[in-house]
Amino acid sequence: MTRRRWIAERWDEATACIDGAQAEHMARVLRAHAGMEADVVAGGRVFHAQVAAVSAKEVRFNLMAELQAEPALAVTLVLAIYKFDRMEWAIEKATEMGVEAIAPVVARRTDKGLAQAAEKRAERWRRIAHEAAQQARRSDVPLVHDPVTLAVRARAASGATRMVLAEQERTTTLRHALEEAMAAAGEEMPALEIAIGPEGGWAPAEEALFDANGWRAVSLGPRILRAETAAISALAVVASCLE
Ligand code: SAH
Repeated sequence: MTRRRWIAERWDEATACIDGAQAEHMARVLRAHAGMEADVVAGGRVFHAQVAAVSAKEVRFNLMAELQAEPALAVTLVLAIYKFDRMEWAIEKATEMGVEAIAPVVARRTDKGLAQAAEKRAERWRRIAHEAAQQARRSDVPLVHDPVTLAVRARAASGATRMVLAEQERTTTLRHALEEAMAAAGEEMPALEIAIGPEGGWAPAEEALFDANGWRAVSLGPRILRAETAAISALAVVASCLE
């Protein structure tokens, strides 16, 4: 049986709580009552749980038995900041597809106004990831990093295999690069970092920056995709290789 899954805000060894809009929904719409069963995610672990107490502000659960949690896809999407509505769509869909983390970055061709508004926007992106994770019945919520400039992210030390999606790349496909990385890694596939450019694409200086810092340019094929299409296509390719 598939039960609804709730991602707890607070928890300890034996209990967990949800509050805010989630609690209100559970209390008013679903008429939660003591004894009702639910699956609850607490700190990345999934539990079979029973409602212990309900108010309009909070629903408290007793955690009964731990269930098997599915791991996230070991991928961080480095997403150049662009039109917020499309970017939010990308965050929602990437979360459904299992992305582990999203790192928004300010690229050269990110609109200046959006770049300035990005810091305040991060909370909303986190909320979108939380809701999408719950909807997708994930056992964790992707981490949404604070926005930084691309230069900071591209140069940061990382143990991940790093790839940059570039529509100019004509020879190496993402799939081919992944298969090579898997063959080289043996048993333990390293985590991946995949960068996606803004609407206007990467500036030449950014391509050089990626190159100088060990990012491999990869293609998703001959057509020019919008950034959000590129993001979910890339995750589909990764999932088909790794899962
Ligand atoms: N400069 C482009 C648009 C960029 S598309 C134009 O001519 O308008 C936005 C981003 O999506 C790119 O920076 C790249 O990261 C990714 N992307 C789009 N199509 C791609 C493809 N076929 N292969 C790899 N990446 C692609």
